[in-house]
Amino acid sequence: MTNEAYRFALDFYAQNVPEGFFQKGLVRIPKDEKDAEKFAAYEPFIDLPYQKVSSGDFPHIAPEALRWGAFYFDHAAFVDPMTVAKKLTERIDTAWGVDAKPSYTEGVWYVGKFSAPNIVLATGAERLPLEIPYLSIGGVWGERVDVRSAAEIPVTLHQKLSVSANVEGVVRIGATHVRNDPRSEIERVNQLIVDAIALVPALADQRILRIYAGHRASVSDHFPLVGTIADTDASKKALGKPPKSLKPENETIPRNPGCHIVNGFGGRGFVFGPLMGKMMSEKILSQTPIDPRVSADRYLLRFLRR
Ligand SMILES: Cc1cc2nc3c(=O)[nH]c(=O)nc-3n(C[C@H](O)[C@H](O)[C@H](O)COP(=O)(O)OP(=O)(O)OC[C@H]3O[C@@H](n4cnc5c(N)ncnc54)[C@H](O)[C@@H]3O)c2cc1C
Repeated sequence: MTNEAYRFALDFYAQNVPEGFFQKGLVRIPKDEKDAEKFAAYEPFIDLPYQKVSSGDFPHIAPEALRWGAFYFDHAAFVDPMTVAKKLTERIDTAWGVDAKPSYTEGVWYVGKFSAPNIVLATGAERLPLEIPYLSIGGVWGERVDVRSAAEIPVTLHQKLSVSANVEGVVRIGATHVRNDPRSEIERVNQLIVDAIALVPALADQRILRIYAGHRASVSDHFPLVGTIADTDASKKALGKPPKSLKPENETIPRNPGCHIVNGFGGRGFVFGPLMGKMMSEKILSQTPIDPRVSADRYLLRFLRR
């Protein structure tokens, strides 16, 4: 699913937001010897073009980081999130700074000045604005940092952290995963930079430009969550404890009319977003069932079976 979403995303950004899309390639480096063994196990499942590389292929990367080799994906890319967000909302009437509290009356959803027959809850790790008893969305806090540097970094690398290619003097470094961490934000960001310099020594000249932080939203199986919300009470009555043969997207699941969700992208929102958005729009516009692997119904069925 991730690979499928990734291929779709590459085309999507190239076509729709070329100005925010940087196809610089990616060197994926094992963290240690144990991780290098795992890389060998992953290999049969990589259905994307790649090359195996070693130190010497990328002189900007510290040779000791490449002692177990690495995989190089030359089509890989990164995006500038704000450029993408601005472009995609260009022709959409948008209100900012609104704490949306949607309400529903006679076939119409209302949020502030807006009204529509369909609403998509895309609220990330924050509390859902409507009660959905069968969904519990968690969040992992993280920081990343943009630095200014003259370092020659032609390709992005990912090891225990990512260091982007240098585009117009800006290098993106990330990210932290904060769980019960007593350190301050600036201490964690400093550590990111220290780790980045260990991978790319020429980054020693860096100066911090900007720190970004936020929650990565996820559900317990760490897969995206897409689809039309079910009416929980009506589902309990109609389906009881559903048999294993009842699958997500089954037509007998009672629905909350016009209420949809797109969430749970974890640390891969820029990869999953475009394909999941396409699925959501096709569901709303032409009732095309959502791929059962990401359908939010999987959580309704687990909830009813408990
Ligand atoms: C440090 C860090 C690094 C990351 N790095 C990567 C990466 O390299 N690649 C990648 O693919 N992904 C990465 N991600 C993950 C990516 O940012 C997310 O997957 C993506 O932003 C999810 O998009 P979203 O729109 O679903 O949710 P969000 O981006 O969380 O957006 C949800 C929005 O809804 C708003 N909202 C919530 N409730 C309401 C309400 N009631 N009314 C109005 N607004 C509301 C929130 O304020 C928020 O702005 C990273 C995340 C973090 C934190």
